[in-house]
Amino acid sequence: MSHFSSLAEVLQHQAMSRPDVAAVTVYSDRPGERPSLTFAALHAQAAHLARQLAAETAPGDRALLIFPSSVEFVVAYFACLMAGVVAVPMMQPRRNANHDASAAIIADCTPRLALSPASDPDPRGLLRERLAAHGIRHLPVALAPEPAPLDAVRPNADGLAFLQYTSGSTSLPKGVMVSHRNLIDNLAMMRERLGNHADSAHVSWIPLYHDLGLIMNLLQPIYLGAPCVLLTPSGFMHRPLNWLRAIHEHRAEVGAAPNFAFDLCVDRFRPEQMEGIDLSSWKIALNGAEPVRAATLERFAATFAPYGFAPEAMRPAYGLAEATLLVTAAKRGSLPRTLDVSAKALKAARIAPPEDAADRHVSASCGSPMTGLTIAIADLETRRPLPQGAIGEIWIQATSVAGGYWQRPEESEQTFRARLETDAPGSGGSWLRTGDLGHLDEAGELHVVGRIKDVMIIRGVNHYPQDIEATVAASHPSLRRDHGAAFTIIDEHDIERIIVVQEVERTQRRDIAEAEVVAAVQAAVVNNHDVALHKVVLIRTGSLPKTTSGKVQRSLTRLRWLEGTLEPWNLSGDAEDRSA
Ligand code: ATP
Ligand code: MG
Repeated sequence: MSHFSSLAEVLQHQAMSRPDVAAVTVYSDRPGERPSLTFAALHAQAAHLARQLAAETAPGDRALLIFPSSVEFVVAYFACLMAGVVAVPMMQPRRNANHDASAAIIADCTPRLALSPASDPDPRGLLRERLAAHGIRHLPVALAPEPAPLDAVRPNADGLAFLQYTSGSTSLPKGVMVSHRNLIDNLAMMRERLGNHADSAHVSWIPLYHDLGLIMNLLQPIYLGAPCVLLTPSGFMHRPLNWLRAIHEHRAEVGAAPNFAFDLCVDRFRPEQMEGIDLSSWKIALNGAEPVRAATLERFAATFAPYGFAPEAMRPAYGLAEATLLVTAAKRGSLPRTLDVSAKALKAARIAPPEDAADRHVSASCGSPMTGLTIAIADLETRRPLPQGAIGEIWIQATSVAGGYWQRPEESEQTFRARLETDAPGSGGSWLRTGDLGHLDEAGELHVVGRIKDVMIIRGVNHYPQDIEATVAASHPSLRRDHGAAFTIIDEHDIERIIVVQEVERTQRRDIAEAEVVAAVQAAVVNNHDVALHKVVLIRTGSLPKTTSGKVQRSLTRLRWLEGTLEPWNLSGDAEDRSA
């Protein structure tokens, strides 16, 4: 399907060839109340709105899309593609959120318009207030009773399809300029690697302004001509097993999510809620966007195999917004591959076999680079490519690597147009620097070790925050998995020290013995990582700084700790849950 030059053309094709297939359906517990659009209806609605957009904008103008997971979002997104307007999918502004990136995104992309659902009452007027402050016109979107056709698609002259803001894990989100070509190429690579097709229903609960939610879970099925079923992120957080129920009901083949979602399903597993659910249709359980833990793969398969889940369906993957989305993914038909490495060597940024059982660290492979995409592992200082088995920064070359960050020429140059020391001067190709550490194993598969910015170096030893966080969460039953952050500070003696901030479990929040929990955490970290924690800070359920897609924001947590604005665990009531 790569003869199409934009996704707008793809939708037109699907509307002609599969008009009556339900393209997008919004899941709810009540089967009678599931809004849905066929490919023909989606195309007609998008064309109708595109006509209106074309009348009010110039090509290349930005339009914010502020929608819950809904059919209206999909209409608005495709209307922008057709009208040559640059869509900017964005989270709902929040007044008291710990970290509301919406104001920064609005200031960064200077939109002409903001689209949101006409049915959304915006009761506190927050959205209207934000838009008015920036002089942005608000366009409420409702489905047209009699959609009018569009005369002509207005392609965006510079080929820009939309702006994908990064998740904001390490700093404020940056607007990645994704072209039509980037998008079509990445979607084609994904189809080839994953083996999904026109009959592969996709079920998703990831927010649509997040790259995994938008590209993998929504645009990929539309590209294939397959049905897409959307759950709300908050629905998933409250009842994770609903995701599995929706997969069962729609006989879905694809469901993609970050590692924590698979753990959450296991943690909330209740046999009575799984009655009658058959997961044998699930062929691609893509696990990406966050470190993939080997223990999670095992737990999930063991818990759900009795319900028909095939362990080889679990497909670890690695990607980032700067490369449109997917970079590597496990191939179909085999169990997820893992590699036993020495934990001690890993701390010296080396890969070696474990010395003994206690030194064993199990690393999950994220699969090999997709066809048409090249990975180099670069030395952090010399920028020389490193051999197989050496840890360095992951660099990428592909037609799906985006053009740069919106309005940030310097950062774009450094990140998107890097040169390896060995690249011939004047040779055309440049590289994307991912800021992630990893290595390639003997089979040419990628193992991601962590983010360069997050690695903690104590007395010359590398500590990876996600490993310490996993140890902390497992050290006491009162602690909440995937809701801790490890980072370093410089103490009064100018020595770098590790601090852990960790949420307590909701059910445990009333009467935990703080000293006992802290002692358990300290002991577990010393035993497993040979390092002492400077401080263990227990905080309230739901109050850890996380992105709206559920990623831990370590530097923001560090800032909050320094400011003294974290919420102690024994404050009454729950914080608004920040994850998803
Ligand atoms: P920001 O760039 O704003 O700090 P972000 O990097 O989290 O946020 P995304 O582009 O959505 O924004 O996420 C990509 C990043 O997620 C990768 O660079 C990597 O750090 C992490 N990631 C993705 N997949 C994996 C994986 N399989 N294993 C480990 N880390 C992963
Ligand atoms: Mg990033």
